[in-house]
Amino acid sequence: MSYAKEANRVLENYRRQSQIDLENREKEVFEKIEGFQDAFIRKNKLGYEYIKANIKSEENKARELEKEIQDVEDKLTKMLLLNGYPKDYLKLKHHCDKCQDTGVYNNTICSCKRTIMVNIAREKSSLNEQMKSENFENFDIDVFDDTVNPGFPISQKDYMANLANYLKTYSQNYKKGDKSLILYGPVGVGKTYLLSSMAKEIIDRGYSLIYLSALQLIKRLFDIRYKNFNEQPKTEIEDLLYDCDVLMIDDLGTENSTDNNISLLFDLLNDRIQRKKTTIISTNIDIEDLSSQYDARISSRIKGEFEPIRFFGRDIREKRFNDDYGIRNS
Ligand SMILES: [Zn+2]
Repeated sequence: MSYAKEANRVLENYRRQSQIDLENREKEVFEKIEGFQDAFIRKNKLGYEYIKANIKSEENKARELEKEIQDVEDKLTKMLLLNGYPKDYLKLKHHCDKCQDTGVYNNTICSCKRTIMVNIAREKSSLNEQMKSENFENFDIDVFDDTVNPGFPISQKDYMANLANYLKTYSQNYKKGDKSLILYGPVGVGKTYLLSSMAKEIIDRGYSLIYLSALQLIKRLFDIRYKNFNEQPKTEIEDLLYDCDVLMIDDLGTENSTDNNISLLFDLLNDRIQRKKTTIISTNIDIEDLSSQYDARISSRIKGEFEPIRFFGRDIREKRFNDDYGIRNS
């Protein structure tokens, strides 16, 4: 089943549940407030007559009925308030007020439906598992080296504590269209861990986010461009890659950077930049060396639009190994 169809099912359930919830609230109020149900039925009857009058173009009658309906409505609202209920207690409540859980807003797909689709896509990916262990809560600062090396004012441990804090704040305050970031530095210094931690924060706050390794991303883009020749111009997954609130690309530079792949990647990044969509990249390539692996278009785009977040230090896997085996730094 396509993501869109699965999302429609979710929305259908939302609508059904809203209706059930409303009926339960009505039942509750009918039982608790004396005379409420009679007035409620009367209002519905008047509403029906009002429609009839309108169809028959009986303007005077319609106007009278309108006033009568208003009176009954006022009475009902007063009864609710007097009994301690909010005045909108008997209104249908939707998950999304924009589209009222139809998935369509302004003749186009509503952002809530897109979020549902992204969530479905993610449930089928490995990110869910990854986020369970790799998140800010489990972040262990003690795996980092606390020695201060010559030429650098603070230890890797202190540096990482600050960095993690900065990225945590960014994710916890994330708003649509926030600046793009590029996390760069050598292998094994915690970039992927922090990327996953950020993903969890941002997703938990309801934004649509896609997380892919550069390798997976290129494969997807390639398939979209060259395998779906006869399909519609924009496939569902392409739509998600271009339109999700946050696109995370892990390990940029490990993919095959052929001219073809570079242009696929450039089109995507450029489109997202132009439409103020956030992209967060991690890479082992130093910012200054980007242009040696990618052409000037990509490297200048990244340098111009992404905030560089530098990681440094020794590979923590190596430190763990040394600790485990009692090997000390000299
Ligand atoms: Zn919506």
